[in-house]
Amino acid sequence: MQPPASVATKRGALLAPYASNPAQSRGRRHAEPAAPTRDDFQRDRDRIVHSTAFRRLVYKTQVFLNHEGDLFRTRLTHSLEVAQLARSIARPLRLNEDLVEAIALAHDLGHTPFGHAGQDALNDCMAAHGGFEHNLQSLRVVDELEERYPQFDGLNLTFETREGILKHCSRANAERLEALEPGGVGRRFLDRTQPSLEAQLCNLADEIAYNAHDIDDGIRSGLITADQLDGVPLFTAPRDEALAEHPSLGGRRLLYETIRRMLSAQVYDVIDATSAALHVSGVSSADEVRQCAPLVQFSAGTRAGCATLKQFLFRNLYRHPQVVQTTHQAQDVVRDLFAAYVRDPAEMQADFAARADRERAVADYIAGMTDRFAVREHERLTGQRILP
Ligand code: MG
Repeated sequence: MQPPASVATKRGALLAPYASNPAQSRGRRHAEPAAPTRDDFQRDRDRIVHSTAFRRLVYKTQVFLNHEGDLFRTRLTHSLEVAQLARSIARPLRLNEDLVEAIALAHDLGHTPFGHAGQDALNDCMAAHGGFEHNLQSLRVVDELEERYPQFDGLNLTFETREGILKHCSRANAERLEALEPGGVGRRFLDRTQPSLEAQLCNLADEIAYNAHDIDDGIRSGLITADQLDGVPLFTAPRDEALAEHPSLGGRRLLYETIRRMLSAQVYDVIDATSAALHVSGVSSADEVRQCAPLVQFSAGTRAGCATLKQFLFRNLYRHPQVVQTTHQAQDVVRDLFAAYVRDPAEMQADFAARADRERAVADYIAGMTDRFAVREHERLTGQRILP
């Protein structure tokens, strides 16, 4: 089947010269024939949406555990919000929306059950065995752990999508990656260079998304109140604007209108600040971007506003006694599971039990669990029900 006339060239023409162009992709680890109607980044996005790890995100915690309420963000809805925000910024900047969407939808695939609590506990358990980093785990999911193709493990995504997924990486892990794949996605952590603009953008969109939705979820949970946010200009400025236009607005509708304006303000701020930075840098290709300082950015004012908001959320939400208590319980679940499977690997699914790298197999198995599967397994193996 031939692609409809010049689909690829037309799309390419809409991209800025410094955007990632699928026609110039550094390719996949296993060569595959081109698809008739989709370019390589669209294909990456589609592979991610159809993966098992993606479906599991619906039952994985963002901040509030799955059982705590039906309306809180999960890793899945968080990832969709990141994709929406990143695409809204990518289009006016003429960056590659398909690549941005692929990276955003995949960025949290490696997260353990129970959010950061689970990842910290698993990292402690793996301290003597190479540690556990969720970004690296997201890469492991798409490179090795998904089983969907007859010819290879993983999803065989392009370099550019994999580069975006590996947001952070320790030096030791970067060296390990570089040994396996010279000049590959680990290299930039050794060279201290930047990833594509699309990858940089997903990073900021992630931050915009969770800063806003954690306010919403935090207030919904009753752990924080809107009044407590009085010292947070990123929140009070749009709230005061909304009240100036709609003086009788209150309650939930005022909160939503505030968050809506807050999101818009940050999106436009990134578009403006990044346009200016791109102009000053004079970059004219995706490869030049990698040699520059980060170009996708907030203005200095918004950057400071985000820092204040983040500080607020840390003090008042992430370290709220109720969240801390659940965190400790979740960490106990992960630690008990790790000990139980290392002691008796046969308790795991057969293909994990059969692996020679026992601790890493256990970490992969636990990291892939949804919150509720982890709780059920914990009860089966210990006889205790720590979380509802
Ligand atoms: Mg995220």
